[in-house]
Amino acid sequence: EKRHIEKRLVVLGAGESGVGTVILGKKEGYTVFVSDKGKIKETYKKTLDELGVAWEEEQHTEAKILTATVVMKSPGIPDTVPLVVRLKERGVPVVSEIEFADNYTAATIVGITGSNGKTTTTMMTHHILKTGGLDVGVAGNIGYSFAKQVATTEVANYVLELSSFQLDGIEKFAPHIAVLTNITPDHLDRYEYKLEKYVASKFRIIKNQTEQDYFIYDADDLEIKKYLNTHEIKPQLLPFSLTKKFDQGAYLEEKNIVVKIDNNEFIMSTSDLALKGNHNVKNAMAAATVSQLLKIRKSTIRECLENFHGVEHRLENVLKINNVQYINDSKATNVNAAYYALDAMKSSTVWIVGGVDKGNDYSLLYPLINEKVKAIICLGIDNEKIINAFGNCVDNIVEAKSMKEAVKAAYSIAERNDNVLLSPACASFDLFKNYEDRGRQFKEAVREL
Ligand code: ADP
Repeated sequence: EKRHIEKRLVVLGAGESGVGTVILGKKEGYTVFVSDKGKIKETYKKTLDELGVAWEEEQHTEAKILTATVVMKSPGIPDTVPLVVRLKERGVPVVSEIEFADNYTAATIVGITGSNGKTTTTMMTHHILKTGGLDVGVAGNIGYSFAKQVATTEVANYVLELSSFQLDGIEKFAPHIAVLTNITPDHLDRYEYKLEKYVASKFRIIKNQTEQDYFIYDADDLEIKKYLNTHEIKPQLLPFSLTKKFDQGAYLEEKNIVVKIDNNEFIMSTSDLALKGNHNVKNAMAAATVSQLLKIRKSTIRECLENFHGVEHRLENVLKINNVQYINDSKATNVNAAYYALDAMKSSTVWIVGGVDKGNDYSLLYPLINEKVKAIICLGIDNEKIINAFGNCVDNIVEAKSMKEAVKAAYSIAERNDNVLLSPACASFDLFKNYEDRGRQFKEAVREL
């Protein structure tokens, strides 16, 4: 007779991914315990109670945690916290939601990571695949738990947005198609301020891939190039670039995007893309490459790229007032994202920037500032670094202490055909709850003008 061995799952952190893991764990016959160092949201508590799952908040009771057969750690918890160190010393597997859930689905996975463009590329790809008739779900860092979807719905394919923290917690997870949009310094506080460590974390997306799998990446990206030149890579490579051409991959010819896989070519004019900016040309190249690999009709890919208008807070057109276009790019929380926003501006721009600095190097922006920015509105508690960085290239720098004040200042400076662009290049936590709050306040202030 087979002895029944209790499978004990401990979930650290009761957020979206934690609660999703609980749902899947229960379904798969685990005894589940949830432990959160902070407060658990009421709605999540209700879900846990309904599932009959024991939980604790504002503490970690080690006796109940160290006996786990597997631990799922939420991406917000660093590997260095003592509890996690102790679990690893004891040989208890500590995995991310992505790794855990992957064990219980046979779906084909498209995994998308990168410093910028994850959400846009994920949504764009999902939109094309779904319109193309594929049975496909979307999950991951985008805000919908992968584990919960594996537990509650059965689909043949997933598009997953993956953060570096989620990738840090994988062991065997291998997407059939991996996308790396770019690498630019971000979240370095979690990587001992070493860029190599952050780069290595992003490249974990290909670590379990085989020769039958695909890796789609930005071939213009210096960090990516450096890594590829110094490591052995198993999957088939499908690069994309704005400057180079390839035998296999995506590139520009005249003003057309060309995606070439085997002898099959997808061609589309960049001016037909609904989303503007060079960064979105790259996102479209990545999404079209995935779609080609998954055999979506070319006409569908083209139509979807013509009608995909993007995601809120990413270069989102808000309103035109007195022929001035107001643009919400609140999700630009680093310099690289702001670079592409300024690069996408077709006329003179009043730029609203600032917030919590992440060790930003603004020098990359000087040429764009000189060319396009007529005034800078600093919106942060500490604006000294921005003022020092741009004082010499822009005559008009003003400070604002609230979104309303910033928008009013921009309104008074902007003239016909100008843009007013909120693209902060910084985190939002000094004046706002998060980037969504910052973006919403911007839109509200613009509507009130
Ligand atoms: P992520 O999910 O990686 O944060 P988003 O799609 O939410 O990416 O976009 C974040 C910010 O980066 C936005 O300001 C957006 O306009 C900008 N962005 C989008 N795609 C790219 C890209 N490929 N390269 C650089 N910046 C990008």
